[in-house]
Amino acid sequence: MDTSSLRLGRRALLASGGALAAVGASLPARARVGTRARIVILGAGAAGLAAAARLSQRLEGAEITLVDSRREHLYQPGFTLVAAGLRRPDYVVGRTADYIPPGVRWIEERAAVIDPDARRVTTASGQLVHYDFLIVATGLELDYAAIEGMDVSRIGRDGLGSVYAGPEAAAATWRAMSEFADRGGVALFGRPSTEMKCAGAPIKYAFLTDDTLRRRGNRGRAELVYNSHNRVLFSVPIVSEKVRMLFRDRAIRVNHEHELAAIDLGAKIATYRTPTGLVPMKYDFINVVPPMRAPEVVRRSPLAWQSGPFAADGWVEVDRATLRHRRYREVFALGDVAGVPKGKTAASVKWQVPVAVDHLVADIAGTTSAEAYNGYTSCPLITRVGRAMLVEFDYDDNLVPSFPGVIAPLEELWVTWMMKEVGLKPTYLAMLRGLA
Ligand SMILES: Cc1cc2nc3c(=O)[nH]c(=O)nc-3n(C[C@H](O)[C@H](O)[C@H](O)COP(=O)(O)OP(=O)(O)OC[C@H]3O[C@@H](n4cnc5c(N)ncnc54)[C@H](O)[C@@H]3O)c2cc1C
Repeated sequence: MDTSSLRLGRRALLASGGALAAVGASLPARARVGTRARIVILGAGAAGLAAAARLSQRLEGAEITLVDSRREHLYQPGFTLVAAGLRRPDYVVGRTADYIPPGVRWIEERAAVIDPDARRVTTASGQLVHYDFLIVATGLELDYAAIEGMDVSRIGRDGLGSVYAGPEAAAATWRAMSEFADRGGVALFGRPSTEMKCAGAPIKYAFLTDDTLRRRGNRGRAELVYNSHNRVLFSVPIVSEKVRMLFRDRAIRVNHEHELAAIDLGAKIATYRTPTGLVPMKYDFINVVPPMRAPEVVRRSPLAWQSGPFAADGWVEVDRATLRHRRYREVFALGDVAGVPKGKTAASVKWQVPVAVDHLVADIAGTTSAEAYNGYTSCPLITRVGRAMLVEFDYDDNLVPSFPGVIAPLEELWVTWMMKEVGLKPTYLAMLRGLA
């Protein structure tokens, strides 16, 4: 079989959604590998559930255990639609239990300690869980406390928005943004300097606010400012340039090297760290995107990078092609917590999981795997309601379009919007079941 076309097919799935079930079903059935191996997966989010499903499909007799205390499953790519007033919060909330594959054990607790030398995890209640293989898929932690004065409970009041904090916060952000769009004033957007999930999301929200103002005939009453933490607007140069031009066309002003350090919620003043010192800015609406880091259990464990760019925030030290730990061969990390240069999206999860699972199954079978993750990540970059650009790229910042010649990556298209609005969720849910 031509594996490159299979890979393209998998990518295209996440982008399109529609053809999902058909292609998933047409994958050739592989003989299952018999084993008594104990496989523990920390985190039952996008990556953990998808990995559990794929391992169940590939292995016979394995003891697979998921560890996660969260009973609600959050479809995070939908948060932006909730914050745009297009979906209710329940659109993004499911039940973890509905996605646990038959035969997989679920410990409804948080992992509190990871001891990779003893090959065991301790849960919050003190239960010891031993493993032969460990998959770390705990996602990341939103570090709101790093912004002085920030109070998550006040999202939705006094012009404070934050799309990332959860479904209700996304809905509250919409209410605050909508009130702003009726009145006008100054709106501030930006992102942290840490690694972050869906780096396009802060940009999308600036565009959506601009669009909402225009639809209400109030764009002339508002000033929109995007504060970028560095000297560009996006890590991929060609995308950065495109966003710069779109911001210019929509009169969204840009400041570079501005990172939110503190916020006075009463006075509505945001203070930014810049190369020349702290800069206060008055706002009427702000979308706060917090710094992000690995969850504490990972940061404190020996699994985190010990040096280099991923060490400070505790991301797991994995090989970027195989997602295998560089010091503990029986450990893999998937999704947001993996310390790789790109890929904190559900689209990356889709692409990472089959690679890591193939390597793990090869270990069990006593063979080797040639599967490699190329850093694929994708972002349907909404530019207004009804239009989006499908930006797909790899570790080397190459654009890797799933539909070359059909969907131009840097064009604002209705079809791309439909992928995000309609196609992405069914595809995402199929991924959780190991079908995409
Ligand atoms: C606003 C927003 C917009 C986005 N838009 C897109 C998009 O358009 N396209 C796209 O592809 N992606 C998008 N994403 C990103 C995507 O949702 C994430 O990259 C993806 O969910 C990562 O999957 P994960 O399994 O690594 O983490 P998650 O899905 O966050 O799951 C992590 C799980 O680990 C659990 N956990 C945490 N700590 C522990 C512990 N100590 N012990 C046990 N379990 C633990 C959590 O409870 C959670 O269930 C967006 C995200 C946001 C927030």
